Amino acid sequence: MKILVINTGSSSLKYQLIDMTNENVLAKGVCDRIGLEHSFLKHTRIGSDPVIIEKDLYNHKIAVQEVLSALTDSKTGVISSMSEIAAVGHRIVHGGEKFKESVIIDDNVMAAIKECVELAPLHNPANIIGIEACQQIMPNIPMVAVFDTAFHQTMPPYAYIYALPFEIYEKYRLRKYGFHGTSHKYVAHRAAEMLGRPIEELKIITCHLGNGASICAVKYGKSIETSMGFTPLQGLAMGTRSGTIDPAVISFLMEKEKMSVKDISDFLNKKSGVLGVSGVSSDFRDVQEAAENGNERAKLALDIFCYKVKRFIGDYMGILNGADAVVFTAGIGENNDLVRSMILKDMDFLGIVIDEEKNKVKGKEIDISAPGARVKTLIIPTNEELAIARETKKLLS
Ligand code: AMP
Repeated sequence: MKILVINTGSSSLKYQLIDMTNENVLAKGVCDRIGLEHSFLKHTRIGSDPVIIEKDLYNHKIAVQEVLSALTDSKTGVISSMSEIAAVGHRIVHGGEKFKESVIIDDNVMAAIKECVELAPLHNPANIIGIEACQQIMPNIPMVAVFDTAFHQTMPPYAYIYALPFEIYEKYRLRKYGFHGTSHKYVAHRAAEMLGRPIEELKIITCHLGNGASICAVKYGKSIETSMGFTPLQGLAMGTRSGTIDPAVISFLMEKEKMSVKDISDFLNKKSGVLGVSGVSSDFRDVQEAAENGNERAKLALDIFCYKVKRFIGDYMGILNGADAVVFTAGIGENNDLVRSMILKDMDFLGIVIDEEKNKVKGKEIDISAPGARVKTLIIPTNEELAIARETKKLLS
């Protein structure tokens, strides 16, 4: 059974074709600059070099057509015809309160996803365009929606209701939703497998640290708390996002700096975080290099990032009443040993002690705990595409 996984952005479309008999990726790629000049498709047949196909990708429908051409082409392809694709799994950013699990897409589901546009105006419209483009080109192939928010729908109300007048929640469904759910769920389940114990008896803190970053407290397989909120701006400091700040900062800045609503949103989402503090970059490799060369603001940015992750781990240790494992994943979590080391320093009181030699590993599944540490510290590369393909397969059967 071959499943096509699609992740659509406003001007991009990423894809992977996965053979679910052995979970091997057959081909993957990205259509970039859709609707813009100089659009192209970068396609990789696994085992071959990537090819760049320059095409006018006027819209997502044309992009999907090009993906299918590349997948069925005699040189770049891995299948002989579209009919070999058993289903398409779509990553959808926001499922609101309606979607607690992945679902097969039908007209009612589409209507409900459209209702969630208001909650994720930057993401859900692109996801919807991606589904519609696939439906037009592959009308007889089942489509599944896998939501970033679904895993966190098990949070209790006292975790997801903000301390605001309750009517605001009733009127707008304004509450904490959390994101990166597919990744948190995937690595929590992998952690249970690595520990050789059922997830139903484990308490795990998963740290998804990439350009966007969030932490999740997973109790017996269910998310009970996560750091992102109504939007992906809440929680940790991130590449360009401020994370949690005093909300009064917003009215202060709007008044003093004469900022509009859009200005303040851009300021907090695109100009803050590690980029804003360091003034160097949102990429941790650049910031780390600058810090090593004596740039004090770059050093401060790293310190702030790590300090906040440490605080969240402590917080979640509290609400879980101790944890069995802490997991690091995503670009920084998997690859940056300095950041892991800074976060986990002096946490022996909580049972977290790492082996600094093992911590030097990049991008591999490994237990980096020191011998005898009460809490296991694991690096687990995330694989959201495989997780989406698994959900899709599960729903088909
Ligand atoms: P993501 O959003 O998960 O792609 O993560 C992006 C962040 O991961 C950037 O800040 C990078 O510095 C970091 N990152 C990604 N790959 C590596 C790598 N191979 N070594 C060190 N850092 C990396």
